[in-house]
Amino acid sequence: MIRINEHYLKLKASYLFSDIARRVAAYQKANPDRDIIKLGIGDVTRPLPKAVISAFHDGVEEMADPVTFRGYGPEQGYAFLRELIAGNDFRAAGSDIAADEIFISDGAKCDTGNIQEILAPDIAVAVPDPVYPVYVDTNVMAGRTGAFIDGRYEGLTYLEGRRDNGFIPDLPETPVDLVYLCYPNNPTGAAITKDQLKTWVDWARENKALILYDAAYEAFIRDPELPRSIYEIEGAREVALEFRSLSKTAGFTGTRCAFTVVPKDVMAYDASGKPHGLHALWNRRHGTKFNGVSYPVQKAAAAVYSEAGKKQARALADYYLANASVIRKEMTALGFDCTGGENSPYIWVDGKRNSWDFFDLLLNEAGVVVTPGAGFGKCGEGYIRISAFNDEDRVAAAMARIRKALE
Ligand code: PLP
Repeated sequence: MIRINEHYLKLKASYLFSDIARRVAAYQKANPDRDIIKLGIGDVTRPLPKAVISAFHDGVEEMADPVTFRGYGPEQGYAFLRELIAGNDFRAAGSDIAADEIFISDGAKCDTGNIQEILAPDIAVAVPDPVYPVYVDTNVMAGRTGAFIDGRYEGLTYLEGRRDNGFIPDLPETPVDLVYLCYPNNPTGAAITKDQLKTWVDWARENKALILYDAAYEAFIRDPELPRSIYEIEGAREVALEFRSLSKTAGFTGTRCAFTVVPKDVMAYDASGKPHGLHALWNRRHGTKFNGVSYPVQKAAAAVYSEAGKKQARALADYYLANASVIRKEMTALGFDCTGGENSPYIWVDGKRNSWDFFDLLLNEAGVVVTPGAGFGKCGEGYIRISAFNDEDRVAAAMARIRKALE
C-alpha cells in the first residue's frame, strides 16, 4: 500500500495568500466595477532592466545557432555568472567569497526550502516570528515539528520579533542547532545592524550552530552602515549560508534566478561529532536533484552586473523605495506606528486592531489589498504588511483611498 508523508497533514490547512485571494475574489464578485489596488503579495510590477532584456535576447539567439547552442549547463551555474556574483556582491564589499562557493538556482524560495534536507531530521530549529512561511513549512514537511497547536508548531523554537526589540529577535534561551534570519526582513521591513548580526554569528560559533541568512532584499539597503551580507561579519564563513535572489533586486520574479552561498568553511557534524563540509553536501544535492538554470536566464542575470545593468537595477530598487517612503509617511501621518519602508520595500504597520479586521476594512472601504500580519505568525497579530511593489500612481491612489477610508 502506497503511503503518504504524514507530516504534510500537519501543515496549516490554508496558505495565507490563498485566504487573501479568496476574500479578494468574494469582494470583487460583490463589487465588479471596483478597481482593486494590490499592495499585498511581494511581486514586482516594473519590467526587467533594458540591459537584462538585451542580454536575454542575445542568449536566445545563441541557442538558435548550431555553433553557439548549449545543452545542459553546469548544475551549479555557469562560471561567468558565479565569477561576477562573487566579485561584485562579495569581494567588492570586502567579503571573502569564491566563485565556486556560489550555487546558481531558480529561486531563493526553493533554496531556503530545500537546504534543510542536507541536515539531520532531529536537529532543533528556530524560526523568527513573524516569519516568511517557507522556513516553517519545509521543516514541518521534513518531520522536525509536532502538531500545529494554538498558532504554533510544537517542537519549533520561535524567536519573537516585537516592537520592543525592533523586530530583531533575542538569542534563543533553549539549545538550538539551526536558525533562520532574514534581513531586511520580510514581513517586518526591519534591518539588522552589524553589531546585532555579530551577536548571532558569535552565538552560532560558540554553539556549533548554523545560520541560514536570507538576504533576498539586500538591494534595498541604502544606509551604508547596515550589513548587506552576513559575510561582512567576522567568522560568518564558518557558520552561515546566505540566500540571495534577483527577484526583487532586478525584477526576476517571473524570470527566475537566485543563488546560495555555501562557504567551504561551514561545517556540520555527524552523530559521532565528526565535522563535514556543507559545501560538498549541497554540491552533491544540487548535482543530483537540479539541472541548472537556463542559459539565456543566466546571461540575463550576468547583465545585472554590467555597468548599465547595475545602474538600471539600482534605479528599479529606488523606484520601489520611493513608493515605500510614501506609504510610510502617509501611514505615520494617519497615526500608525511603522517599521520598515526604509532600506526595505515592506512597511509593517501596527494597526491597533486585529490584523484580519484591518485587512477587511482596507479591502471593503478602500479597495486596497494588504497582507494581515497574523498570517506570518503569532507575533504578527495586530499588524499589516504593506508592500511597495506596485506602480507609483497606484501607490499614490491607494494611499489617497486609505486616507479617505480612515479619516
Ligand atoms: N526569501 C524571502 C524572504 C522572500 O520574501 C522571497 C519572496 O518573496 C523569497 C525568498 C523568494 O525569492 P525567489 O523569487 O528567488 O524564490
